[in-house]
Amino acid sequence: MGNTVQEILQRTGDKKRQGFWIRHSLLFVLLFVTYLGLLLEFPLQRKGLWFIFSITTIIVYSVFHILKKKKRYSVEFLFSIALFIAGAAQAFSLPWLKMAYFPFLIFLTAFYGRRTILALLLTIPFLELGNFLKGALPVEDVIFIVSLSVTVGISLLLKNMIRKDNVFESSLREIGVVSASDSEEEIKSFGDEKVISHYLESMFRPDDEIRDILMVAKNTVFADTVNLFTSSGGSLRLRSSTDESGAIIPSGSGLIDLCFHQRKSLISSDISEKKLEVGYLKGDKISSLVSAPVMDESFPLGVITADSARFHAFSSADKDILEMFSKQIVRILQRERVYPQIGRSYAKLEILNEESSKLLSSLNIDVIVQNLIDGAYRIAPSEIAFFMAKGDEFELIQQKGFQHQEKTVFVFKNTLLDNIVKEKKPYTLSDVRDYRTPIMPFKTVNTGSVVILPLLYEKDLLGIFALLSEKTNAFSPHQIELLKVLANQASTSIANARFHAEIERLAVTDGLTGLFNHRHFQERLAQEFNRLERFSDPISLLIIDIDHFKKINDTYGHPVGDAVLKGIAEKIKKTIRNIDVPARYGGEEFAVILPGTDENGAMNMAERLRKAMGTTKFASEKSAFNITVSIGVSTFTKEIRSKEELVETADKALYHAKRNGRNQSILWSDIKNPVSQ
Ligand code: GH3
Ligand code: MG
Ligand code: MG
Repeated sequence: MGNTVQEILQRTGDKKRQGFWIRHSLLFVLLFVTYLGLLLEFPLQRKGLWFIFSITTIIVYSVFHILKKKKRYSVEFLFSIALFIAGAAQAFSLPWLKMAYFPFLIFLTAFYGRRTILALLLTIPFLELGNFLKGALPVEDVIFIVSLSVTVGISLLLKNMIRKDNVFESSLREIGVVSASDSEEEIKSFGDEKVISHYLESMFRPDDEIRDILMVAKNTVFADTVNLFTSSGGSLRLRSSTDESGAIIPSGSGLIDLCFHQRKSLISSDISEKKLEVGYLKGDKISSLVSAPVMDESFPLGVITADSARFHAFSSADKDILEMFSKQIVRILQRERVYPQIGRSYAKLEILNEESSKLLSSLNIDVIVQNLIDGAYRIAPSEIAFFMAKGDEFELIQQKGFQHQEKTVFVFKNTLLDNIVKEKKPYTLSDVRDYRTPIMPFKTVNTGSVVILPLLYEKDLLGIFALLSEKTNAFSPHQIELLKVLANQASTSIANARFHAEIERLAVTDGLTGLFNHRHFQERLAQEFNRLERFSDPISLLIIDIDHFKKINDTYGHPVGDAVLKGIAEKIKKTIRNIDVPARYGGEEFAVILPGTDENGAMNMAERLRKAMGTTKFASEKSAFNITVSIGVSTFTKEIRSKEELVETADKALYHAKRNGRNQSILWSDIKNPVSQ
């Protein structure tokens, strides 16, 4: 049986192919004759005949292209119009009429894709072939074609730019809607997902496919008509028929209803004699009927019927054939149901794609979390919170939909979130109304379902992402999948941002002491000087040098020397204020920028530091020891105009301290004006 059907399908395919060539070559002949007429100057000599031909060509092509909405006739249709314009220009000796191509082509760019317009543009020089064959190649014609091409190029470019803006603005709702005039070219400017869903939709024409199957079925079983009825709202409605005159009207009950409800095929050979109800009315009388249910697994979708005015028209073989076709129709109906879902999935994927790239493009953790929450809300509108892990505690970085929280740092003990922290696994609960354990570490009202995702990087828990909905079963498996992907992306982005921040920190930090390095010290000093231009705050600088440090290295060894440097750095950090900037200036030299500090304040700080260092005990294997430091102090004054001068004067003050017995702080202005001492 399968073979018979296959053969028949093959034959119809062959016939279809023949039809294709007949249609194409016939149409082509029309176009070619019109064109030939133009070359032979028929518009001049046999005006009437040529114009009748030209207009017929336009009408025939417009029927195929516009009425039948077939894209593949677009160039031919447009060329037939161009031929008409060229013919009119020739007939009435109005060469300027060719100027009509400019508005014509600009107008077309709004409706057709690049490929169609360029193909048409290429055919236009052929309209001038007549002149060319006569041996004339007027410069004006060449200029005309070139300027036409440039104009068309510009308008295509403009259209592309406008389109791009529109694509950005276009809401997601528009996805899946392709206007019939869109060419493949234009579709390419959409995102990949859109292209795929457009592609799937454009490939899939269920009505055409069903009609084709019914036609083949009709020819196979020699029926008068073959019809597909599908169930909608409890009754069978005509979905498609080989009779397109509208003569088939479902009548409510009858044999097809029986077939549908009993889910069994049936053959009836003498309907009009037995006066049976078929279930639909038809202009002609129905004597025989074969009918098969269209079943999606065990679920009936509809009924396919074949009828005939002849008695005993169908055999059980015909019933088998109809069942085969019924199976094919099921596949189409299934795809019809699934495709819009694919479209919707792609719409969500589009959000995901957008939000993921936003996540990737930021190195600021607050921005990443904000994007994560916004993206998740677009995928699944709900109450959303993000907690960043801080040791055993969690900081609520951002939230959407919950009440404002005074506290921002929480412990998760005795909450549902604690389970996720311990297990490091996502939790999706579709009904939490009877949960005793609180979900969040703060009060929430009426929670129906939750999705809680741990943000992991390698094995580290970076944070917890929680989505709560009042409704039960609020999150579909598809949404949960998308949220997981988004959260995964956010984990990578947060880890990335942290990594980046660490690199930045390392770039400004001295490896041994943890203070800022020399380069960063110079940058910060420059910044402070820039600020000075706007605010007239004083600014001071200390340069600290360990006394006889070489001796410490020599006596106790380099590692002990290093430990001393670290100890000194710690002392500096502890002693200075938050706004002060401590740096390792050189080997055993440190510098501290003191913003907003005058000479007195700077000297006080220097002395505090010096005394603190002097009282610090350092230990080595040999013995405990103390160190002393010398400090040069300088403050920005009228005489000191630049950061270089500030450093230089502090250095001079330090040198002075060394020369005068070490273990002391010296203010540069004191050595410069000894009188004021
Ligand atoms: P003064 O009181 O005149 O400053 O004497 P000093 O010995 O401290 O001065 P000098 O500039 O002669 O010696 C500085 C020493 O600091 C020399 C160098 O070996 C040592 N030094 C520089 N950087 C480091 C370091 O990173 N670790 C250790 N252990 N020693 C360092
Ligand atoms: Mg030194
Ligand atoms: Mg020294």
